[in-house]
Amino acid sequence: MASGNRPVLTVTGLKKSYRSAGEDIAVLRGVNLAVAAGESVALTGESGSGKSTLLHLIAGLDAADVGEIILDGVSLSELGDAGRAALRRDRLGLVFQQFNLIPSLTVADNLTFQSRIARRHDPKWQEELVERLGLARLLKRYPEQLSGGQQQRVAIGRALAPKPLLLLADEPTGNLDEDTADEVLALARDLVARTGCGFLLVTHSARLAATLDRQINLHAGVIA
Ligand code: ADP
Ligand code: MG
Repeated sequence: MASGNRPVLTVTGLKKSYRSAGEDIAVLRGVNLAVAAGESVALTGESGSGKSTLLHLIAGLDAADVGEIILDGVSLSELGDAGRAALRRDRLGLVFQQFNLIPSLTVADNLTFQSRIARRHDPKWQEELVERLGLARLLKRYPEQLSGGQQQRVAIGRALAPKPLLLLADEPTGNLDEDTADEVLALARDLVARTGCGFLLVTHSARLAATLDRQINLHAGVIA
């Protein structure tokens, strides 16, 4: 669904090599990809196929060798480091396998961390996130006092609190058991639908991938 909506992300002809032991290894060999507002896309591919590399490039955490990434109508290559950092902070939600919560902050403070630094804190939306993610009774706890599934719910809430344009998730359920993975992903899908943002999910699981709007596969450096 929503493929008629405006694209929030367009990737064209993206190439990336790594230099290893004096040799260039071509990981991405001309990736094309678009994600529309409100669309959820599952990216699968073998281990080492370059899925994380692609997400890092889209997040502006690393630079491509060739090709273009357009986020919200802006080409990443036209921005400097500061511009890419600002775009990442204001328009992207990032979720990783290793939860990445800030250990010294409570759940409540972890949740608002991103939206406050982006100056996009919205108390009403925050309240709704807490409610929908079932975090109301956990707000005063610290990350180490939470289960993996609870930590990942906080990480999703933190990523969505600034109402990003695009949520990028790299194997977010990789450290969770199957039932918890299903539950966490269902929450993420609902919240993404609620915000109308795009969603690009990297997952090993064909079962989870099938629950998204569209499935794409990265193989031999390209998306077929
Ligand atoms: P995936 O996420 O699909 O498992 P990655 O994007 O992590 O794959 O890695 C793709 C390939 O690029 C792998 O062969 C990996 O070893 C290599 N690679 C990833 N990051 C680097 C790096 N910083 N330096 C050198 N090689 C890298
Ligand atoms: Mg990876």
